[in-house]
Amino acid sequence: MPTAEEVANPRVRFVNRAKPDPTRQYVLYWMQMYRRLERNHALDYAIARAVEFGKPLVVYEGLRLDYPWASVRHHRFILEGMRANARRAKALGINYWPFVQTPTEPGTGLLRRLARLACLVVTDDYPTFIVPRQTQALALRAPVAVVAVDSNGVVPLSWLGPPVAAAAHLRPRIHRAFARAWPKRAAAEPDFPAVTRQAVEPPFAVWDATQPLDRFLDSLPLDRSVPAVPGVEGGAEAAARLLQRFLREKLHRYATERNTPDSPADGPASGLSPYLHYGHISIEAVVEATLNTVNGWSLAQVGGSGRDFYSDSADVNAFLDEAITWRDVGYHWHWHRAADVEALERALPAWAWATLQKHASDRREAVYSLEQFEAGQTHDEIWNLAQRELVATGRIHNYMRMLWGKKILEWSATPTEAYRIMVELNNKYALDGRDPNSWTGILWTLGLFDRPWAPERPVFGTVRYMSSDNTSRKFKKLVKYRQYVQGLPEIAAVRRG
Ligand SMILES: Cc1cc2nc3c(=O)[nH]c(=O)nc-3n(C[C@H](O)[C@H](O)[C@H](O)COP(=O)(O)OP(=O)(O)OC[C@H]3O[C@@H](n4cnc5c(N)ncnc54)[C@H](O)[C@@H]3O)c2cc1C
Repeated sequence: MPTAEEVANPRVRFVNRAKPDPTRQYVLYWMQMYRRLERNHALDYAIARAVEFGKPLVVYEGLRLDYPWASVRHHRFILEGMRANARRAKALGINYWPFVQTPTEPGTGLLRRLARLACLVVTDDYPTFIVPRQTQALALRAPVAVVAVDSNGVVPLSWLGPPVAAAAHLRPRIHRAFARAWPKRAAAEPDFPAVTRQAVEPPFAVWDATQPLDRFLDSLPLDRSVPAVPGVEGGAEAAARLLQRFLREKLHRYATERNTPDSPADGPASGLSPYLHYGHISIEAVVEATLNTVNGWSLAQVGGSGRDFYSDSADVNAFLDEAITWRDVGYHWHWHRAADVEALERALPAWAWATLQKHASDRREAVYSLEQFEAGQTHDEIWNLAQRELVATGRIHNYMRMLWGKKILEWSATPTEAYRIMVELNNKYALDGRDPNSWTGILWTLGLFDRPWAPERPVFGTVRYMSSDNTSRKFKKLVKYRQYVQGLPEIAAVRRG
């Protein structure tokens, strides 16, 4: 049964049965995924509770060494975000406690210690990766309430109803709820009343965010075969700059050119997915800034049919359909699965699993191992280009990403093996990897959110097929994409045991 507070605030979920204890030291916001100090529903909730209890607020942002697919690439992006948060927190005068695990400072039991001093713990309600488990683990041991707050989308996930079989089924639900959710956006510039800003001494050595990052990263036992991406900087400030550039220079050709494979510099895609993934920018900020490009936009304008819902601009509508409907369908899917993404048989719709099983022992044109895929050593030059882009830049153009996945299905020994390989490569190299949309994007290549397609083919059965030849023909032999990828630095993709 939801509590009265959960009913009143559809984004709030009490994870344990413990009560808040206003006699303790501070309200703790444990920032796990929405790593920013504005447009953050969990932060807004934590501020409100701190004011209610007359207590300071502490924002704790941690980074451990042992998260799945930890590497210099992911670590650097997150640390750049923490550096930006430290600057912002200093300007705001709030208690921001960053902690980065090192071999000499493992921080064992640190969070539990912080929770014992807290009136209550507020955290992000993120439906996948290690987050649900971590939250649950703290909730079991914390002496006070642990409250998870959903900052995932414009519309609270709890409003979106039961699981859907296709994005087309979720779209109308989002549209129906949009006007109700829009006025309840998180604060663009949260107010931190004086009581929340009372200084609290951290009971541990906080991470020094001013130190040179290269030297610090060199000191950590991380996978160095996945290096940082030159020219791509994490953090809220970098995200805001990228969004402005997208709106100024790219949005006006989004609807017509988004599918054409190109470099991130020349193509119209926003490149925002890593920032959305790490919470360096909020989807509400992205949507609001996008709608503000439409002259005189107001809520009264929403309500067009289907994909024309948000405005009279085809580009704005196309972008928001990706950023809202398609992004949300992945979050919503995970929300209803309690992080169970391991077994392909349970993850796929019955028709897709059945048709893939029927064709599981079909003869393949080629069968590659994870190592061969990873090294970009297939017979297909176009596939190898996409893999090279992923390894070198942490990104694959969206159209190429679909083809990339379809071919892994075609050239793996079984669909289950294809799923394993895609999850591994996507989450190891992609800066937006380990996101709800990592698993659902991959599962889409295997039939999720799709329908059967004729004709029935070897290996794919009735799962939608894509071919490198067609891609090449459709996009003028991919001349521009080829030039771009061939100009990227060669990074030897190697598998560490
Ligand atoms: C095999 C495969 C793996 C994928 N893995 C990931 C992943 O790890 N992380 C991830 O965020 N997305 C993933 N996607 C979805 C999509 O490829 C990316 O979201 C998109 O390419 C990100 O680039 P962008 O930010 O420039 O997108 P834009 O075109 O600028 O779109 C804006 C935002 O809308 C959302 N979006 C756009 N396209 C999709 C889509 N097809 N599905 C869901 N949301 C979308 C993203 O949040 C994106 O940042 C995957 C798709 C496939 C086919």
